[in-house]
Amino acid sequence: QRGLVWLRNDLRIQDNTALYHAARSCAQVAAIFIACPQTWRSHDEGDPVVSFRLACLRELQQSLAERHIPLYFLELQKFAQVPRAMVQIAQKLKIDALFANAEYPLNERRRDSDVREALKKIDVPIEYCTDRTLLPPGAVKTGSGDAYKVFTPFKHTFIEQCGGTDFAPLPQPRTMEEDDNWPSWIEVRGEHNLVQTIPAQLPGYHAVPEKKGELLGWKPGEKAAAKRLREFREDIDGYEDERDYPAIDATSRLSPYLNCGAISIRQCAHMALTLNNGQWAGGSDGISCWLSELIWREFYTHLLVAFPQLSKHKPFKPETDKVPWSYDQDKFRHWCDGKTGVPIVDAAMRQLNQTGWMHNRLRMVVASFLSKNLLIDWRWGERYFMQHLLDADFAANNGGWQWAASTGTDAAPYFRVFNPYSQSKKFDRHGEFIRDFVPELRELGDDEIHCPPPSQNYPPPICDVGQSRKHAIEVFAALK
Ligand code: FAD
Repeated sequence: QRGLVWLRNDLRIQDNTALYHAARSCAQVAAIFIACPQTWRSHDEGDPVVSFRLACLRELQQSLAERHIPLYFLELQKFAQVPRAMVQIAQKLKIDALFANAEYPLNERRRDSDVREALKKIDVPIEYCTDRTLLPPGAVKTGSGDAYKVFTPFKHTFIEQCGGTDFAPLPQPRTMEEDDNWPSWIEVRGEHNLVQTIPAQLPGYHAVPEKKGELLGWKPGEKAAAKRLREFREDIDGYEDERDYPAIDATSRLSPYLNCGAISIRQCAHMALTLNNGQWAGGSDGISCWLSELIWREFYTHLLVAFPQLSKHKPFKPETDKVPWSYDQDKFRHWCDGKTGVPIVDAAMRQLNQTGWMHNRLRMVVASFLSKNLLIDWRWGERYFMQHLLDADFAANNGGWQWAASTGTDAAPYFRVFNPYSQSKKFDRHGEFIRDFVPELRELGDDEIHCPPPSQNYPPPICDVGQSRKHAIEVFAALK
Protein backbone atom coordinates (compact mmCIF):
# COMPACT_ATOMS: atom_id res chain seq x y z
CA GLN A 1 0.00 0.00 0.00
CA ARG A 2 1.26 3.44 -0.92
CA GLY A 3 -0.43 6.23 0.95
CA LEU A 4 -0.40 9.98 0.45
CA VAL A 5 -1.24 12.35 3.28
CA TRP A 6 -2.70 15.65 2.11
CA LEU A 7 -1.77 18.18 4.80
CA ARG A 8 -3.80 21.34 5.26
CA ASN A 9 -4.35 23.07 8.62
CA ASP A 10 -3.04 20.07 10.56
CA LEU A 11 0.67 20.82 10.50
CA ARG A 12 2.03 18.40 13.06
CA ILE A 13 3.22 14.84 13.46
CA GLN A 14 1.88 14.04 16.91
CA ASP A 15 -1.78 13.16 17.09
CA ASN A 16 -2.43 13.87 13.44
CA THR A 17 -5.31 11.53 12.63
CA ALA A 18 -4.77 11.33 8.87
CA LEU A 19 -1.02 10.82 9.20
CA TYR A 20 -1.59 8.25 11.91
CA HIS A 21 -3.97 6.22 9.76
CA ALA A 22 -1.68 6.44 6.75
CA ALA A 23 1.36 5.38 8.75
CA ARG A 24 -0.54 2.47 10.28
CA SER A 25 -2.08 1.15 7.10
CA CYS A 26 0.51 1.84 4.38
CA ALA A 27 3.98 0.49 3.82
CA GLN A 28 5.04 3.65 2.04
CA VAL A 29 3.90 7.17 2.81
CA ALA A 30 4.53 10.62 1.39
CA ALA A 31 2.89 13.93 2.29
CA ILE A 32 1.76 16.81 0.14
CA PHE A 33 0.73 20.39 0.79
CA ILE A 34 -1.12 22.37 -1.87
CA ALA A 35 -1.06 26.16 -1.67
CA CYS A 36 -3.93 28.01 -3.37
CA PRO A 37 -3.04 31.67 -2.82
CA GLN A 38 -5.80 33.06 -5.03
CA THR A 39 -8.51 31.22 -3.14
CA TRP A 40 -6.90 32.01 0.19
CA ARG A 41 -6.96 35.70 -0.73
CA SER A 42 -10.60 35.44 -1.73
CA HIS A 43 -11.22 34.01 1.74
CA ASP A 44 -9.47 37.09 3.15
CA GLU A 45 -6.61 35.10 4.64
CA GLY A 46 -3.87 37.67 5.12
CA ASP A 47 -0.09 37.79 5.31
CA PRO A 48 0.17 36.84 9.01
CA VAL A 49 -1.85 33.62 8.89
CA VAL A 50 -0.33 32.51 5.59
CA SER A 51 3.26 33.31 6.62
CA PHE A 52 2.74 31.43 9.86
CA ARG A 53 1.28 28.45 8.00
CA LEU A 54 4.30 28.30 5.67
CA ALA A 55 6.72 28.66 8.58
CA CYS A 56 5.02 25.79 10.44
CA LEU A 57 5.06 23.77 7.25
CA ARG A 58 8.84 24.19 6.95
CA GLU A 59 9.28 22.93 10.49
CA LEU A 60 7.06 19.97 9.77
CA GLN A 61 8.93 19.13 6.59
CA GLN A 62 12.07 18.85 8.66
CA SER A 63 10.45 16.57 11.24
CA LEU A 64 8.91 14.39 8.55
CA ALA A 65 12.26 14.12 6.77
CA GLU A 66 13.79 12.81 10.00
CA ARG A 67 11.22 10.04 9.73
CA HIS A 68 11.98 9.55 6.03
CA ILE A 69 8.67 10.93 4.84
CA PRO A 70 9.03 13.46 2.05
CA LEU A 71 6.75 16.49 2.09
CA TYR A 72 6.01 17.83 -1.37
CA PHE A 73 4.79 21.31 -2.04
CA LEU A 74 2.54 22.20 -4.94
CA GLU A 75 1.47 25.71 -5.79
CA LEU A 76 -1.80 26.17 -7.64
CA GLN A 77 -4.01 29.22 -7.74
CA LYS A 78 -7.47 28.04 -6.81
CA PHE A 79 -9.28 25.22 -5.07
CA ALA A 80 -10.98 24.44 -8.39
CA GLN A 81 -7.63 23.22 -9.77
CA VAL A 82 -7.04 20.77 -6.94
CA PRO A 83 -9.11 17.73 -8.06
CA ARG A 84 -7.37 17.45 -11.44
CA ALA A 85 -3.94 17.99 -9.93
CA MET A 86 -4.64 15.38 -7.27
CA VAL A 87 -5.57 12.80 -9.89
CA GLN A 88 -2.32 13.45 -11.76
CA ILE A 89 -0.28 13.24 -8.58
CA ALA A 90 -2.02 10.05 -7.46
CA GLN A 91 -1.27 8.46 -10.81
CA LYS A 92 2.34 9.58 -10.90
CA LEU A 93 3.04 8.46 -7.34
CA LYS A 94 1.02 5.28 -7.90
CA ILE A 95 -0.96 5.99 -4.74
CA ASP A 96 -3.37 3.42 -3.37
CA ALA A 97 -5.07 5.70 -0.87
CA LEU A 98 -5.26 9.36 0.11
CA PHE A 99 -5.64 10.52 3.71
CA ALA A 100 -6.64 13.97 4.92
CA ASN A 101 -8.25 15.63 7.91
CA ALA A 102 -11.66 17.17 7.26
CA GLU A 103 -12.09 20.94 6.93
CA TYR A 104 -15.48 22.57 7.46
CA PRO A 105 -16.06 25.92 5.73
CA LEU A 106 -18.28 25.46 2.66
CA ASN A 107 -15.67 25.97 -0.08
CA GLU A 108 -13.26 23.59 1.63
CA ARG A 109 -16.00 20.96 1.83
CA ARG A 110 -16.86 21.43 -1.85
CA ARG A 111 -13.19 21.10 -2.81
CA ASP A 112 -12.90 17.93 -0.77
CA SER A 113 -15.98 16.32 -2.23
CA ASP A 114 -14.76 17.20 -5.77
CA VAL A 115 -11.44 15.54 -4.98
CA ARG A 116 -13.25 12.47 -3.72
CA GLU A 117 -15.30 12.25 -6.94
CA ALA A 118 -12.23 12.76 -9.14
CA LEU A 119 -10.24 10.07 -7.32
CA LYS A 120 -13.16 7.65 -7.46
CA LYS A 121 -12.68 7.53 -11.24
CA ILE A 122 -9.18 6.16 -10.80
CA ASP A 123 -10.16 3.92 -7.88
CA VAL A 124 -8.22 5.75 -5.23
CA PRO A 125 -10.17 5.95 -1.96
CA ILE A 126 -9.87 9.00 0.24
CA GLU A 127 -10.45 9.08 3.96
CA TYR A 128 -11.38 12.43 5.52
CA CYS A 129 -10.74 12.09 9.23
CA THR A 130 -12.21 13.99 12.18
CA ASP A 131 -9.27 15.90 13.59
CA ARG A 132 -10.00 19.60 13.87
CA THR A 133 -12.79 19.07 16.36
CA LEU A 134 -13.22 16.67 19.27
CA LEU A 135 -16.49 15.29 17.93
CA PRO A 136 -17.44 15.33 14.25
CA PRO A 137 -19.73 18.24 13.30
CA GLY A 138 -23.29 16.94 13.23
CA ALA A 139 -22.71 14.57 16.14
CA VAL A 140 -24.09 16.89 18.81
CA LYS A 141 -27.86 17.14 18.30
CA THR A 142 -30.92 18.33 20.17
CA GLY A 143 -33.54 15.79 21.29
CA SER A 144 -35.39 16.38 18.01
CA GLY A 145 -32.27 15.74 15.96
CA ASP A 146 -31.49 19.36 15.04
CA ALA A 147 -28.27 21.28 15.39
CA TYR A 148 -27.98 23.43 18.49
CA LYS A 149 -28.21 27.18 18.05
CA VAL A 150 -27.46 28.03 21.66
CA PHE A 151 -24.14 27.38 23.32
CA THR A 152 -25.08 26.20 26.83
CA PRO A 153 -27.28 23.24 25.82
CA PHE A 154 -24.74 22.38 23.12
CA LYS A 155 -22.09 22.30 25.80
CA HIS A 156 -24.13 20.02 28.06
CA THR A 157 -24.84 17.53 25.32
CA PHE A 158 -21.26 17.72 24.09
CA ILE A 159 -19.99 16.86 27.58
CA GLU A 160 -22.48 14.02 27.87
CA GLN A 161 -21.31 12.62 24.57
CA CYS A 162 -17.71 12.94 25.60
CA GLY A 163 -18.53 10.73 28.55
CA GLY A 164 -19.74 13.12 31.24
CA THR A 165 -17.17 13.21 33.95
CA ASP A 166 -15.30 10.29 32.48
CA PHE A 167 -13.31 11.27 29.43
CA ALA A 168 -12.59 7.77 28.24
CA PRO A 169 -14.73 7.92 25.07
CA LEU A 170 -12.92 11.06 23.97
CA PRO A 171 -10.36 10.20 21.33
CA GLN A 172 -6.99 10.03 23.00
CA PRO A 173 -4.10 11.87 21.39
CA ARG A 174 -2.12 9.44 19.30
CA THR A 175 1.58 9.68 19.94
CA MET A 176 4.07 8.91 17.23
CA GLU A 177 7.44 8.02 18.65
CA GLU A 178 10.71 8.51 16.83
CA ASP A 179 11.41 4.79 16.98
CA ASP A 180 7.88 3.79 15.92
CA ASN A 181 7.58 1.56 12.95
CA TRP A 182 7.51 4.32 10.35
CA PRO A 183 6.68 3.43 6.78
CA SER A 184 9.41 3.80 4.22
CA TRP A 185 9.35 6.78 1.93
CA ILE A 186 8.30 7.04 -1.64
CA GLU A 187 11.09 7.90 -4.04
CA VAL A 188 9.64 10.29 -6.60
CA ARG A 189 12.38 12.75 -7.40
CA GLY A 190 12.41 14.38 -10.79
CA GLU A 191 9.19 12.84 -12.04
CA HIS A 192 6.90 15.86 -12.01
CA ASN A 193 6.48 19.42 -10.88
CA LEU A 194 6.23 18.67 -7.19
CA VAL A 195 8.95 20.43 -5.24
CA GLN A 196 10.34 20.07 -1.78
CA THR A 197 11.18 23.73 -1.38
CA ILE A 198 8.63 25.71 0.55
CA PRO A 199 8.70 29.34 -0.53
CA ALA A 200 8.93 32.19 1.97
CA GLN A 201 6.01 33.87 0.26
CA LEU A 202 3.35 33.25 -2.36
CA PRO A 203 2.02 35.38 -5.23
CA GLY A 204 -0.08 38.19 -3.84
CA TYR A 205 1.36 37.72 -0.36
CA HIS A 206 4.15 39.41 1.55
CA ALA A 207 6.29 37.55 4.03
CA VAL A 208 5.85 38.87 7.55
CA PRO A 209 9.14 40.10 9.03
CA GLU A 210 10.87 37.36 10.95
CA LYS A 211 13.04 37.92 13.99
CA LYS A 212 15.09 35.10 15.46
CA GLY A 213 12.86 32.52 13.79
CA GLU A 214 9.75 34.13 15.23
CA LEU A 215 6.89 35.67 13.27
CA LEU A 216 5.47 38.69 15.07
CA GLY A 217 6.77 37.17 18.31
CA TRP A 218 5.42 33.67 17.67
CA LYS A 219 7.77 30.76 17.17
CA PRO A 220 6.38 28.50 14.48
CA GLY A 221 6.03 24.75 14.71
CA GLU A 222 4.87 21.79 16.68
CA LYS A 223 7.65 21.90 19.28
CA ALA A 224 6.96 25.55 20.10
CA ALA A 225 3.25 24.77 20.40
CA ALA A 226 3.88 21.85 22.76
CA LYS A 227 6.17 24.05 24.86
CA ARG A 228 3.47 26.71 25.11
CA LEU A 229 0.92 24.12 26.22
CA ARG A 230 3.33 22.86 28.90
CA GLU A 231 3.92 26.39 30.13
CA PHE A 232 0.23 27.20 30.21
CA ARG A 233 -0.38 24.04 32.23
CA GLU A 234 1.43 25.73 35.10
CA ASP A 235 -0.87 28.76 34.99
CA ILE A 236 -4.18 27.20 34.05
CA ASP A 237 -5.62 27.32 37.57
CA GLY A 238 -5.59 31.11 37.45
CA TYR A 239 -7.27 31.26 34.03
CA GLU A 240 -10.79 32.10 35.17
CA ASP A 241 -9.70 34.95 37.43
CA GLU A 242 -7.18 36.54 35.11
CA ARG A 243 -8.23 35.80 31.55
CA ASP A 244 -10.11 39.08 31.07
CA TYR A 245 -7.19 41.39 31.81
CA PRO A 246 -5.27 42.21 28.65
CA ALA A 247 -2.18 43.42 30.51
CA ILE A 248 -1.81 39.97 32.11
CA ASP A 249 -0.48 37.09 30.06
CA ALA A 250 -3.06 34.66 31.48
CA THR A 251 -4.53 32.98 28.43
CA SER A 252 -2.85 30.12 26.62
CA ARG A 253 -2.02 32.03 23.39
CA LEU A 254 -2.37 28.73 21.62
CA SER A 255 -4.81 30.01 18.99
CA PRO A 256 -2.28 30.45 16.13
CA TYR A 257 -1.07 26.88 16.76
CA LEU A 258 -4.55 25.40 17.05
CA ASN A 259 -5.54 27.18 13.89
CA CYS A 260 -2.77 25.83 11.65
CA GLY A 261 -2.84 22.53 13.51
CA ALA A 262 0.65 22.71 15.06
CA ILE A 263 -1.15 21.37 18.12
CA SER A 264 -4.34 19.30 18.23
CA ILE A 265 -7.52 20.06 20.09
CA ARG A 266 -7.27 16.60 21.69
CA GLN A 267 -3.81 17.35 23.06
CA CYS A 268 -5.19 20.54 24.62
CA ALA A 269 -8.34 18.94 26.03
CA HIS A 270 -6.40 15.95 27.25
CA MET A 271 -3.90 18.09 29.14
CA ALA A 272 -6.69 19.96 30.92
CA LEU A 273 -8.88 16.91 31.58
CA THR A 274 -5.99 14.96 33.00
CA LEU A 275 -5.27 17.76 35.46
CA ASN A 276 -8.97 18.02 36.30
CA ASN A 277 -9.48 14.31 37.03
CA GLY A 278 -11.38 13.85 33.80
CA GLN A 279 -13.98 16.50 34.55
CA TRP A 280 -15.16 18.97 31.94
CA ALA A 281 -17.13 20.97 34.47
CA GLY A 282 -16.41 21.29 38.17
CA GLY A 283 -13.04 20.61 39.72
CA SER A 284 -10.68 23.53 39.19
CA ASP A 285 -12.53 26.71 38.11
CA GLY A 286 -9.59 27.73 35.95
CA ILE A 287 -9.48 24.43 34.12
CA SER A 288 -13.22 24.04 33.60
CA CYS A 289 -13.40 27.62 32.35
CA TRP A 290 -10.63 26.94 29.81
CA LEU A 291 -12.31 23.71 28.70
CA SER A 292 -15.46 25.70 28.16
CA GLU A 293 -13.57 27.96 25.73
CA LEU A 294 -12.43 24.88 23.82
CA ILE A 295 -16.12 23.95 23.57
CA TRP A 296 -16.92 27.42 22.13
CA ARG A 297 -14.39 26.65 19.41
CA GLU A 298 -16.12 23.33 18.85
CA PHE A 299 -19.57 24.99 18.80
CA TYR A 300 -18.63 27.54 16.12
CA THR A 301 -17.04 24.87 13.93
CA HIS A 302 -20.09 22.62 14.21
CA LEU A 303 -22.31 25.57 13.26
CA LEU A 304 -20.52 25.97 9.92
CA VAL A 305 -21.65 22.55 8.81
CA ALA A 306 -25.21 22.86 10.14
CA PHE A 307 -25.76 26.33 8.68
CA PRO A 308 -24.01 26.74 5.32
CA GLN A 309 -25.31 30.32 4.97
CA LEU A 310 -22.64 31.31 7.51
CA SER A 311 -20.01 30.64 4.84
CA LYS A 312 -21.81 32.96 2.39
CA HIS A 313 -21.38 36.30 4.15
CA LYS A 314 -24.88 35.96 5.56
CA PRO A 315 -25.96 36.82 9.10
CA PHE A 316 -27.39 33.94 11.05
CA LYS A 317 -30.45 36.09 11.80
CA PRO A 318 -31.62 37.18 8.33
CA GLU A 319 -33.64 40.14 9.67
CA THR A 320 -30.40 41.82 10.79
CA ASP A 321 -29.50 42.37 7.14
CA LYS A 322 -32.11 45.14 7.29
CA VAL A 323 -29.93 47.14 9.70
CA PRO A 324 -28.92 50.30 7.81
CA TRP A 325 -25.22 49.48 8.19
CA SER A 326 -22.79 52.31 7.60
CA TYR A 327 -20.03 52.05 4.99
CA ASP A 328 -18.08 55.09 6.15
CA GLN A 329 -14.56 54.44 4.84
CA ASP A 330 -13.04 57.23 6.84
CA LYS A 331 -14.33 56.03 10.21
CA PHE A 332 -13.47 52.45 9.31
CA ARG A 333 -9.87 53.51 8.59
CA HIS A 334 -9.62 55.22 11.97
CA TRP A 335 -10.79 51.99 13.59
CA CYS A 336 -8.33 49.85 11.59
CA ASP A 337 -5.39 52.12 12.38
CA GLY A 338 -6.16 52.42 16.10
CA LYS A 339 -6.96 56.14 15.82
CA THR A 340 -10.53 56.34 17.06
CA GLY A 341 -9.70 58.52 20.03
CA VAL A 342 -11.02 55.82 22.39
CA PRO A 343 -7.84 54.56 24.08
CA ILE A 344 -8.78 50.95 24.79
CA VAL A 345 -10.05 50.48 21.23
CA ASP A 346 -6.91 52.05 19.79
CA ALA A 347 -4.58 50.02 22.02
CA ALA A 348 -6.36 46.82 20.97
CA MET A 349 -6.24 47.58 17.25
CA ARG A 350 -2.56 48.46 17.51
CA GLN A 351 -1.92 45.19 19.33
CA LEU A 352 -3.53 43.41 16.38
CA ASN A 353 -1.59 45.40 13.78
CA GLN A 354 1.74 44.99 15.55
CA THR A 355 1.54 41.43 16.85
CA GLY A 356 -1.08 39.62 14.74
CA TRP A 357 -3.00 38.70 17.89
CA MET A 358 -5.55 40.42 20.10
CA HIS A 359 -6.77 39.56 23.57
CA ASN A 360 -10.27 38.01 23.60
CA ARG A 361 -11.83 40.68 25.83
CA LEU A 362 -10.59 43.34 23.42
CA ARG A 363 -11.82 41.45 20.36
CA MET A 364 -15.29 41.78 21.90
CA VAL A 365 -14.76 45.45 22.76
CA VAL A 366 -13.52 46.54 19.31
CA ALA A 367 -16.10 44.40 17.50
CA SER A 368 -18.89 45.97 19.52
CA PHE A 369 -17.45 49.45 18.93
CA LEU A 370 -17.35 48.93 15.16
CA SER A 371 -20.68 47.20 14.73
CA LYS A 372 -22.72 49.09 17.34
CA ASN A 373 -21.19 52.49 18.07
CA LEU A 374 -20.06 53.09 14.49
CA LEU A 375 -22.85 50.86 13.12
CA ILE A 376 -20.40 49.76 10.41
CA ASP A 377 -21.24 46.47 8.70
CA TRP A 378 -19.71 43.72 10.90
CA ARG A 379 -18.46 41.99 7.75
CA TRP A 380 -15.90 44.77 7.28
CA GLY A 381 -14.53 44.05 10.73
CA GLU A 382 -14.65 40.30 10.20
CA ARG A 383 -12.65 40.76 7.02
CA TYR A 384 -10.05 43.02 8.65
CA PHE A 385 -9.54 40.44 11.41
CA MET A 386 -9.11 37.64 8.85
CA GLN A 387 -6.52 39.71 7.06
CA HIS A 388 -4.52 40.61 10.17
CA LEU A 389 -4.82 37.77 12.67
CA LEU A 390 -2.19 35.04 12.97
CA ASP A 391 -5.00 32.82 14.26
CA ALA A 392 -7.52 33.82 11.56
CA ASP A 393 -10.05 31.01 11.70
CA PHE A 394 -13.24 31.41 9.73
CA ALA A 395 -15.48 29.62 12.24
CA ALA A 396 -14.28 31.38 15.40
CA ASN A 397 -13.97 34.75 13.71
CA ASN A 398 -17.36 34.69 12.05
CA GLY A 399 -18.88 33.40 15.29
CA GLY A 400 -17.17 36.13 17.33
CA TRP A 401 -18.23 38.91 14.97
CA GLN A 402 -21.81 37.76 14.67
CA TRP A 403 -21.92 37.42 18.44
CA ALA A 404 -20.72 41.00 18.95
CA ALA A 405 -22.95 42.43 16.21
CA SER A 406 -26.02 40.59 17.61
CA THR A 407 -26.61 38.95 14.23
CA GLY A 408 -25.59 35.40 15.13
CA THR A 409 -26.61 32.31 17.06
CA ASP A 410 -26.67 32.84 20.78
CA ALA A 411 -25.39 36.37 20.17
CA ALA A 412 -25.12 39.21 22.64
CA PRO A 413 -28.68 40.64 23.01
CA TYR A 414 -28.84 43.79 20.88
CA PHE A 415 -29.52 46.05 23.87
CA ARG A 416 -26.30 44.98 25.60
CA VAL A 417 -23.70 47.19 23.98
CA PHE A 418 -20.22 47.22 25.49
CA ASN A 419 -19.21 50.59 26.87
CA PRO A 420 -15.52 50.84 25.92
CA TYR A 421 -14.77 53.29 28.74
CA SER A 422 -16.22 51.07 31.47
CA GLN A 423 -14.57 48.02 29.92
CA SER A 424 -11.29 49.91 29.98
CA LYS A 425 -11.66 50.95 33.62
CA LYS A 426 -12.68 47.47 34.65
CA PHE A 427 -10.19 45.36 32.76
CA ASP A 428 -7.21 47.72 32.38
CA ARG A 429 -7.68 49.66 35.59
CA HIS A 430 -4.21 51.14 35.75
CA GLY A 431 -3.98 51.66 32.00
CA GLU A 432 -0.97 49.36 31.68
CA PHE A 433 -2.19 47.80 28.46
CA ILE A 434 -3.10 51.18 26.97
CA ARG A 435 0.34 52.57 27.85
CA ASP A 436 1.99 49.63 26.09
CA PHE A 437 0.31 50.29 22.77
CA VAL A 438 -0.62 53.98 22.83
CA PRO A 439 2.63 55.69 23.78
CA GLU A 440 1.06 59.14 23.24
CA LEU A 441 -0.91 58.57 26.45
CA ARG A 442 1.89 57.06 28.50
CA GLU A 443 2.27 60.09 30.75
CA LEU A 444 -1.40 60.30 31.73
CA GLY A 445 -2.57 59.22 35.17
CA ASP A 446 -4.81 56.22 35.83
CA ASP A 447 -7.92 58.43 36.01
CA GLU A 448 -7.41 60.24 32.75
CA ILE A 449 -5.99 57.52 30.56
CA HIS A 450 -9.30 55.80 29.79
CA CYS A 451 -10.93 58.96 28.45
CA PRO A 452 -8.17 61.53 27.92
CA PRO A 453 -8.72 65.30 27.84
CA PRO A 454 -8.31 66.98 24.42
CA SER A 455 -4.65 67.25 23.46
CA GLN A 456 -2.48 67.82 20.45
CA ASN A 457 -1.05 64.37 20.14
CA TYR A 458 -4.19 62.26 20.55
CA PRO A 459 -7.40 62.60 18.51
CA PRO A 460 -10.82 63.27 20.08
CA PRO A 461 -13.26 60.30 19.98
CA ILE A 462 -14.76 59.71 16.52
CA CYS A 463 -18.17 59.16 18.04
CA ASP A 464 -20.16 59.90 21.15
CA VAL A 465 -20.29 56.54 22.83
CA GLY A 466 -23.53 57.22 24.73
CA GLN A 467 -25.51 58.60 21.81
CA SER A 468 -24.29 56.05 19.30
CA ARG A 469 -25.18 53.24 21.69
CA LYS A 470 -28.72 54.62 22.01
CA HIS A 471 -29.03 54.91 18.25
CA ALA A 472 -27.84 51.32 17.69
CA ILE A 473 -30.37 50.00 20.19
CA GLU A 474 -33.17 51.91 18.44
CA VAL A 475 -32.13 50.58 15.05
CA PHE A 476 -32.12 46.98 16.29
CA ALA A 477 -35.38 47.45 18.23
CA ALA A 478 -37.04 48.68 15.03
CA LEU A 479 -36.32 45.30 13.38
CA LYS A 480 -38.65 43.54 15.78
P1 FAD B 1 -7.54 30.89 25.37
O1 FAD B 1 -8.36 31.80 26.19
O2 FAD B 1 -6.35 30.28 25.99
O3 FAD B 1 -8.52 29.75 24.83
C1 FAD B 1 -8.02 28.51 24.34
C2 FAD B 1 -8.50 28.24 22.95
O4 FAD B 1 -9.92 28.13 22.95
C3 FAD B 1 -8.17 29.33 21.95
O5 FAD B 1 -6.86 29.21 21.46
C4 FAD B 1 -9.24 29.09 20.89
O6 FAD B 1 -8.88 28.05 20.04
C5 FAD B 1 -10.43 28.64 21.71
N1 FAD B 1 -11.29 29.78 22.02
C6 FAD B 1 -11.22 30.62 23.07
N2 FAD B 1 -12.22 31.52 23.04
C7 FAD B 1 -12.94 31.23 21.93
C8 FAD B 1 -14.11 31.81 21.35
N3 FAD B 1 -14.75 32.85 21.90
N4 FAD B 1 -14.55 31.29 20.18
C9 FAD B 1 -13.96 30.23 19.62
N5 FAD B 1 -12.84 29.65 20.13
C10 FAD B 1 -12.35 30.14 21.27
N6 FAD B 1 -10.31 32.81 17.71
C11 FAD B 1 -9.55 32.24 16.76
O7 FAD B 1 -8.91 31.23 17.01
N7 FAD B 1 -9.48 32.78 15.51
C12 FAD B 1 -10.16 33.91 15.17
O8 FAD B 1 -10.09 34.34 14.01
C13 FAD B 1 -10.96 34.53 16.16
N8 FAD B 1 -11.63 35.68 15.88
C14 FAD B 1 -12.40 36.25 16.87
C15 FAD B 1 -13.12 37.42 16.57
C16 FAD B 1 -13.92 38.03 17.53
C17 FAD B 1 -14.70 39.27 17.18
C18 FAD B 1 -14.01 37.47 18.82
C19 FAD B 1 -14.86 38.11 19.88
C20 FAD B 1 -13.30 36.32 19.12
C21 FAD B 1 -12.50 35.69 18.16
N9 FAD B 1 -11.76 34.52 18.44
C22 FAD B 1 -11.01 33.93 17.46
C23 FAD B 1 -11.90 33.85 19.74
C24 FAD B 1 -10.88 34.23 20.83
O9 FAD B 1 -10.80 35.61 20.94
C25 FAD B 1 -9.50 33.65 20.57
O10 FAD B 1 -9.60 32.28 20.29
C26 FAD B 1 -8.59 33.82 21.78
O11 FAD B 1 -8.47 35.18 22.11
C27 FAD B 1 -7.23 33.23 21.47
O12 FAD B 1 -6.35 33.41 22.53
P2 FAD B 1 -5.83 32.19 23.40
O13 FAD B 1 -5.31 31.12 22.52
O14 FAD B 1 -4.93 32.73 24.43
O15 FAD B 1 -7.20 31.68 24.03
